[in-house]
Amino acid sequence: MAADIHFSPLALTRALPFLPLAQGDIDYQVDRRIEPNLIENLLADPNTKVVLTRGGRIAVPRGQGDLVDYENVKMRLATLPGAYVSAELRRYPEVVAMFLGAYAGARGASVVAVDITRVSQTDAAAAAGADDAFDETVSLPGEVPSAKPTLLQQAVTRFDWVDLRGFAPHASAREAGQATSAITLSIWHSRQRFCPTCGSPVRPALGGWAQRCTNEADGNRILFPRVEPAVITAIVDGRDRLLLQHNAAWKDPKLYSVSAGFVEAGENLEHACRREAMEETGIQLGEVRYLGSQPWPFPASLMMAFKAHAVTTDIQVDGEETMIARWVTRDEYTAELVSGRMVAPGRATIARYMIEEWLGREL
Ligand SMILES: [Zn+2]
Repeated sequence: MAADIHFSPLALTRALPFLPLAQGDIDYQVDRRIEPNLIENLLADPNTKVVLTRGGRIAVPRGQGDLVDYENVKMRLATLPGAYVSAELRRYPEVVAMFLGAYAGARGASVVAVDITRVSQTDAAAAAGADDAFDETVSLPGEVPSAKPTLLQQAVTRFDWVDLRGFAPHASAREAGQATSAITLSIWHSRQRFCPTCGSPVRPALGGWAQRCTNEADGNRILFPRVEPAVITAIVDGRDRLLLQHNAAWKDPKLYSVSAGFVEAGENLEHACRREAMEETGIQLGEVRYLGSQPWPFPASLMMAFKAHAVTTDIQVDGEETMIARWVTRDEYTAELVSGRMVAPGRATIARYMIEEWLGREL
């Protein structure tokens, strides 16, 4: 049978057909990651766009950072031409560049993400107020660095920096996907500076998607980002009521969501769903069915969503992690939202889409 042509390589399941993270349509072009001087060559190509990350945030044009809390506003990534960034990377060898992929077509743009977290804060302070020089300070190779702030120093104040939860609900799927990959990789590079096996420094490899240990005695081992699997479960009972809970860690006392937790070492996903439900609410689960998944790079989770049928209905919250849990019908849930007694999970979260799937309409 022919494949469903409407599904891009990064598309999701029919149960959860849209999620606002990592659902872009970029071609990773994995085979190019081994090319010598890949980043340098990409930056020399006038079709290449550069996006910037810093401290787990993504750069957007100045002013857009204020839009995060508004509904129905569009946000986009700030991009720089590759040629501007090339000389800067020679100046800052500690800056990590990542090849995110390219778009289809003869003039398809390649996208490189550059993480400037390691451009020091002192430099950033010096750059404040120096925006007017933005287009005039690109140094040529071998040039003596001037006292003027460099392009990457200026970028700290030139752009607004927003986190993925703020950006993704306002962005196109394409740009939200770029931002998710860039932020996930950049957080990993900024946290893992040494080989976990031998303690030697590491350097980026495979276009930024991996690292290589610099210790020959350790075989210059290749290191890949660790992903932390988590399950999230929409639990319904025999009357198709949904189990909603409020957890102690959530700042908003009115926030209610579905059951979630990390997968233990050596545990399968279905067991994790059942264990979390029992620990948090005392509910025993029957059949557990896969719904879809979403990367959640805060800092490195992968949320795997399930729908489960409860075989018991008596709730006993643990009182530590989960404070309140209750069954709701669709009418009851709608009434709680309208009255303001309950708040739904945020627009970037898979939990929101799971609740919508049960509710049968958008929140
Ligand atoms: Zn090592």
